[in-house]
Amino acid sequence: MSLESLYQDIILDHYKNPRGRGLMESPLGTAFHVNPTCGDEINMQVAASEDGGLLIGYEGTGCSISQASASVLYELVQGRPVADAESIRLAFVELMHSKGHADPDEEVLGDAIAFVGVAKYPARIKCALLPWMALQDAEIKGGLMSEPDSDQE
Ligand code: ZN
Repeated sequence: MSLESLYQDIILDHYKNPRGRGLMESPLGTAFHVNPTCGDEINMQVAASEDGGLLIGYEGTGCSISQASASVLYELVQGRPVADAESIRLAFVELMHSKGHADPDEEVLGDAIAFVGVAKYPARIKCALLPWMALQDAEIKGGLMSEPDSDQE
């Protein structure tokens, strides 16, 4: 099996068996993001656990890339300190801007390395990034993170 088809299998598995999918009753912050070019929708929620870990709730509809990306996001950041979640988020954003030439660190990105091939297709990059942009927005709205200065992604 080629690496590419292995990665496709990982993405399909997250799409078919989404991890942690579902909404919370009382989130601190919620962000609803759409990707009009593909029709993807993500409703992302955040809260904080008593020991300061990030709690994630989400629902969405759309293509396999966008929905699998939300599942991978949950798997990677659920329960992690906000600062750790932000470094993972930035590593994923960097991966998606790599045009497929990155050598992603599986220790940091886990199953998200499967998206390296997606970074070759500009139309799909927005799909993959949608849940991660919504996460940042939900964290800002929930007061878990401050507004970025000027470097908009
Ligand atoms: Zn999409």
